[in-house]
Amino acid sequence: MAIAVTADAGGGIFFVHLFGKTSGYQPHWWVYALGIILAWLPDIDILAQKAKSQAIDSKHRSMITHQPMLFMAITLGATVLLVGTSAPNHAEFWLPLVTLCLLFHYLHDSLGQANRWGIEWLAPFSGRLYQIGMIKDGKRRLVCSWTPEEAGKIPLEEWLATYYLRPTSESIGGILTFCLAVVYATLG
Ligand SMILES: [Zn+2]
Repeated sequence: MAIAVTADAGGGIFFVHLFGKTSGYQPHWWVYALGIILAWLPDIDILAQKAKSQAIDSKHRSMITHQPMLFMAITLGATVLLVGTSAPNHAEFWLPLVTLCLLFHYLHDSLGQANRWGIEWLAPFSGRLYQIGMIKDGKRRLVCSWTPEEAGKIPLEEWLATYYLRPTSESIGGILTFCLAVVYATLG
């Protein structure tokens, strides 16, 4: 499980450091931890699915946390309530951080073969799933869309074993993202 969150964790660390620099806000260690949580946050639906049905599979992504328009509106709305839209609560740090951590997660979930049919980018207006750079009907397409019926279910354990718990572009890319983000946060 830890390897599967390395890319999100790397994204969180990177964006905390980047927006710390651009805004002049000095993030404490706990802000880096929060950045990691933010970049992982949409996958909290895995816990909801487990609580409901015990089994975790790719259908967890049909919940609201994987519907970018709705979830980003809610999360950004909550952030504005907490920090406002300007100083003194460093809104110029928090607003881009929340936006980019979530977008990073959604793009990561939409890229490549291993990511199980992408996500519902256009919900609540459409239930179709969208994925980038996927093969459909024998042809690789820049953007592929699937109906919920076309999108199959893969139990989480099977997906992790196939794509993450052995060297694949997915698992190596995740670990590399994490290591580069740590180097950037330490030296950059
Ligand atoms: Zn996700």
